[in-house]
Amino acid sequence: MEIKLIKEKIEQYDKIIIHRHQHPDPDALGSQKSLTLSIKKTFPNKQVLMAGESVGDLDWLSHMDNVNQNDYKNALVIVVDTANVPRISGENFDKGNFLIKIDHHPDNDQYGNLRFVDDEASSCSEIMYDLLTQWKFVIDKQVANAIYAGIVGDTGRFMYDATSSHTFEVASELLNLGVDLPKINQKLSEVTLQQAKLQSSVYDYLTIDKSGAAWAIITQENLKKLDVTMEQAHAVVSSPGRLKGVVSWIIAVEKKIPETGFRIHYRSKGPIINTLAMNHDGGGHPLASGANAKDEEEVKQIINELIQAVKDFK
Ligand code: AMP
Repeated sequence: MEIKLIKEKIEQYDKIIIHRHQHPDPDALGSQKSLTLSIKKTFPNKQVLMAGESVGDLDWLSHMDNVNQNDYKNALVIVVDTANVPRISGENFDKGNFLIKIDHHPDNDQYGNLRFVDDEASSCSEIMYDLLTQWKFVIDKQVANAIYAGIVGDTGRFMYDATSSHTFEVASELLNLGVDLPKINQKLSEVTLQQAKLQSSVYDYLTIDKSGAAWAIITQENLKKLDVTMEQAHAVVSSPGRLKGVVSWIIAVEKKIPETGFRIHYRSKGPIINTLAMNHDGGGHPLASGANAKDEEEVKQIINELIQAVKDFK
């Protein structure tokens, strides 16, 4: 039902602005870009814009449009891959005529006039493939590349538990459309030398509790020494999971002034951690979430909650 209604809204509006979440990852950008390109190619007379903060090192994947408040007049706004309102990137998303949410995170914040949420999908990009296919919108090589980058990004190259047989079916269809497989995989795994140095030193910062909970706190001083930005520090988030005995872990990255506190990345091989993240201005998937800690005290509290969750799970 929602699928048909969303299609009708897209057909109805001449101007469509597509948002995604802050600190974008390949899935946020891939779902935003594939929807944008597909609408443009299906309806060449529509104006479709991508809104949000700049994309940092992911500029090989996508670029934002210059969008200002006037653009939102009589516009349809679609937000992809974003569970809750505070995480939406781009300040005027609520100034349009009609708001649609398309997402694959648990639907805890039911914003928008219309929603399509499938929290079992591997990625928002996988949902995008299914929607565009059902709507019979154009999916050419360019659209396929964006979808593929999103799927590979959010499944950790088809490794995480949300990867399903359908994910592989979609990937197979995308390959038939000629996606640049080696190029995208290479871009997604590429790191700078500084990031590689941080990846090896993260084990020096890591504490592993006997429960199997682990944590690393990376300060601005650590980052400065290695000349790595807070965004680039994301490259180390999955590293502790490679260690035997580590069950769930967090990486706390100190924010850069004028921001204060820490950005928390939660990951887990079993214990559910999004319920923990929700208590700290965050959320996400059961085994991969993000949150915010206002100071070191809150980081300590987060660590204690993680240890308890791992013990309870065992
Ligand atoms: P990250 O650790 O930043 O890679 O995020 C892991 C997952 O949690 C992604 O699906 C994010 O969209 C989600 N996430 C990260 N930070 C937040 C937050 N503050 N609120 C809600 N979801 C988040």
